[in-house]
Amino acid sequence: MTQQWTRVALKGKAQIIPTICPNCLGDANLKYRYGYKGIQGWLTRTTYYQTFSYCDQCFPQVKSALGLRHWRFFAGVMTFIFWIPLLLVCADRARNPQTGLATGLRADLAVALSVVLALISGCLLYQAARVIKHRRNPRRPGQKVWGLAAFYTGGTHLGFNNAYAVYKAARPEWIAALVRANPEQVEPAVYLSHVGAPQPAPAGRPFGPG
Ligand SMILES: [Zn+2]
Repeated sequence: MTQQWTRVALKGKAQIIPTICPNCLGDANLKYRYGYKGIQGWLTRTTYYQTFSYCDQCFPQVKSALGLRHWRFFAGVMTFIFWIPLLLVCADRARNPQTGLATGLRADLAVALSVVLALISGCLLYQAARVIKHRRNPRRPGQKVWGLAAFYTGGTHLGFNNAYAVYKAARPEWIAALVRANPEQVEPAVYLSHVGAPQPAPAGRPFGPG
């Protein structure tokens, strides 16, 4: 999901978020606040929240994608619940019908098999929810991705360096709009590379040391 996404680090914590849709670049008038928890978020136990603006056509998918996150958690809980009866069935099958006992190896295999079957069940449950949600709000032409198309991913250096705010987006055009909206939060070279035009001079102090 993240391979072709564009990312940028802006200075400070307060950014102006552009009012163009990060998914289809249409006029965005619907705001939604949501979080991001990448690998670093699991390490630092932090979710990074920001409010983004989407267009009214992409907005239902945003809500659907956030609902799918709850399904991920629910599928995890269900995996555990599925596991208990599966363990009982597998343990029962591992027993020798004559003696009613399972050898150590067969018992271990029964536990391993029940774990694998429970994980498969949980994955299937999540995939079913995902397919239903994608069918309900299918990806339209002009949309870059399904669902969420921009994230605030915390600071640099695994989120620990709070002097910067890192954003990633499915569309480089949205990152360019973000940089244009916050021109003083990037170096001139970074501005040029994303926007394709030189950084405007800071307002208020045109010359001299400031
Ligand atoms: Zn849109």
